[in-house]
Amino acid sequence: MKVMVVGGAGYIGSHCSKILVDRGYDVVIVDNLSTGHRKAIEPRASFYEGDIRDYDFLDKVFKKENVSAVIHFAAKSLVGVSMVEPIDYFDNNVNGTLVLLKAMVANNVKKIVFSSSAAVYGEQKVFPITEEALPNPECTYGETKLQMEKMMKWADIAYGVKYVSLRYFNVAGAFPTGEIGEDHNPETHLIPLILQVPLKKRECISIFGDNYDTPDGTCIRDYIHVVDLIDAHIKALEYLMAGNNSDIFNLGSEEGFSVKEMIVTAEEVVGEKIAKKVVARRAGDPAILIASSKKAKEVLKWKPQYSLKEMIGTAYHFYQLHKDGYQDK
Ligand code: UDP
Repeated sequence: MKVMVVGGAGYIGSHCSKILVDRGYDVVIVDNLSTGHRKAIEPRASFYEGDIRDYDFLDKVFKKENVSAVIHFAAKSLVGVSMVEPIDYFDNNVNGTLVLLKAMVANNVKKIVFSSSAAVYGEQKVFPITEEALPNPECTYGETKLQMEKMMKWADIAYGVKYVSLRYFNVAGAFPTGEIGEDHNPETHLIPLILQVPLKKRECISIFGDNYDTPDGTCIRDYIHVVDLIDAHIKALEYLMAGNNSDIFNLGSEEGFSVKEMIVTAEEVVGEKIAKKVVARRAGDPAILIASSKKAKEVLKWKPQYSLKEMIGTAYHFYQLHKDGYQDK
């Protein structure tokens, strides 16, 4: 079966493409390389460089490749930037998905697995967060993901496009061989930034606030290994191919770790002390985000396998092999 991976040169998309090929799927990657890396592109897949806002480009790829389904990762994803460049985020994420859906419908491709985000929930009061919680995005990024989900819902009603929307929490780690991993510029995520200290690329890790209403005062997040995340995507794909209805699932580990706990775990993994300092809170950070993944476990029969130490360990392995990232920009 042939699957189109949109955004397949990015961190999560490159893991998806590799694992799909490993499991025997034919993969067609579409990416505009705006944040993705040429060196992260799965060599056994076909690659088309282009923008999903370009209808004619997408239409040509669909006509040539005859794919059965799409897995969609192509989106801008920085919360802070989304607040100062909202129009760019709506254009790239919402308009891009609109054009993608249009090209899918025109070419009779009616299955899509789609990367949504915990950011659709915003500040919630009940943990772990279930899919029943009322979405309440507090940033433009989360709002664009919610709009993308809504577009899918109405496209399903009108054209029978079946979708699975996966709401991720904090994705981390790298493929265990270290061939591919996370390389963002600028880097904003906690685990890569912590690891830059033992990698001698940063003097210390800044803790964004230690006066939150949590046991040690630092923010608590739910981390999930990228390989576990992709396993859920493939299970979602199989679920749709089996003729099931559209649905929404959270993907997390159901366990929360504070920023301080993350630093201590990283120290255990790398075997040395990591210098840290407490700085001001980062705007828009909720104190706690923990997912209930009960639904994904029950319906998709998904079970995450990787521990927090393995998330940090596989990420560290990737950076040891790629000291300055992919170096292709
Ligand atoms: N964080 C931190 N220092 C950093 C980067 C992140 O203390 O240099 C905190 C951040 O405030 C949040 C958690 O680490 O509570 C995870 O942040 P990240 O940006 O990795 O993911 P997010 O939760 O924003 O999706």
